[in-house]
Amino acid sequence: MKQNRRQFIRSTAMAAATLALPSLSMNATPKQHMNGTAKMKLSWTPYDLQLNHTFTISGFSRKTTPVVLTRIEYDGLEGYGEASLPPYLGETQASVIEFLKKVDLSAFSDPVHLEEIMAYVDGIAINNTAAKAAVDIALHDLAGKMIGAPWHRMYGLDKHDVPDTTFTIGIDSDEVVREKTREALGRFHILKVKVGGPDDKRMIEAIRSVTDLPLAVDANQGWKERWQALDMIFWLKEKGVVMVEQPMPKRELDHIAWLTGESPLPIFADESVQRLTDVEHLKGVFSGINIKLMKCTGMHEAWKMRNLAQALGMKVMMGCMTETSCGISAAAQLYAGMDFADLDGALLIGNDCFDGAKLENGKIIASDLPGIGVKPIKEIAFGR
Ligand code: MG
Repeated sequence: MKQNRRQFIRSTAMAAATLALPSLSMNATPKQHMNGTAKMKLSWTPYDLQLNHTFTISGFSRKTTPVVLTRIEYDGLEGYGEASLPPYLGETQASVIEFLKKVDLSAFSDPVHLEEIMAYVDGIAINNTAAKAAVDIALHDLAGKMIGAPWHRMYGLDKHDVPDTTFTIGIDSDEVVREKTREALGRFHILKVKVGGPDDKRMIEAIRSVTDLPLAVDANQGWKERWQALDMIFWLKEKGVVMVEQPMPKRELDHIAWLTGESPLPIFADESVQRLTDVEHLKGVFSGINIKLMKCTGMHEAWKMRNLAQALGMKVMMGCMTETSCGISAAAQLYAGMDFADLDGALLIGNDCFDGAKLENGKIIASDLPGIGVKPIKEIAFGR
């Protein structure tokens, strides 16, 4: 009986996720783009993002983040995409370019057939999720431009109905933490603190010496023992923390399920969730999931994950890597109605090369331009 009920819930949730997908191929393609002879042309270029501050999370410090920018040209239009490659994810500019060289879009007659094209791209090799996202985002941008609408409208979302974005404060000295906190005041309504080390309480106290803004914390798997984690969470709640991301190692799901059951704060999966197939296993383990385009191969799968998680009664947040406004603008299309957002990636860099979604009163708001809503702000030398 229990098994049947579980299967029913699963199939209902899957159906809900599928039904919620926008159906574009029926009638959405304007005639002028149906000439049947145009071919999609994919090109790319590596690019290094310069971080405004050295960024430390549990285990790593860095000053730059490598990305690969992509472009798909078709019938006089251009769609832009991005793969962001922080070192802990295992992809590099070289591995992304190697992957992109294998992508042959010439067999596809219509860029709007996103599901079909992305099924092919996903099948080229396992993993490579950021490389796949770079194709997915460029395709969405292109398809949106062909249709003449931004994706938030095609998803049926109100682009203003979004949660405040967190602004991330990395693990650092008290002085630097206070300086970064002061930088955020007036611009952000919630801060995100990287914890998971011996200095967690010191970090929180340093921020609290400057502001009483709500805080999200991300332990990046850093707490190793569940009772220690629970004690810390109760202490954090007293300090005005409102959510906890990935408190313990990603495979320790039994401990995390116990922690979620005992915790006075919602617990979100980040490292424990990558793609759509992970979502249903995490019901009852975490309160919610952190969806990132670079983990899940892009917008087509992020949209399904969002709908499945919500159908399962889970909370959802939209996250990001350090990315240009290209990747952030793509994420900004589909996060209306979510519970939390961590979309400060483009605000942490000094050499953004796209104009797109912008910080407005603490929220990242998508533009009204079609597709993912971006324009390059300088010449980008795409090639193959
Ligand atoms: Mg995280």
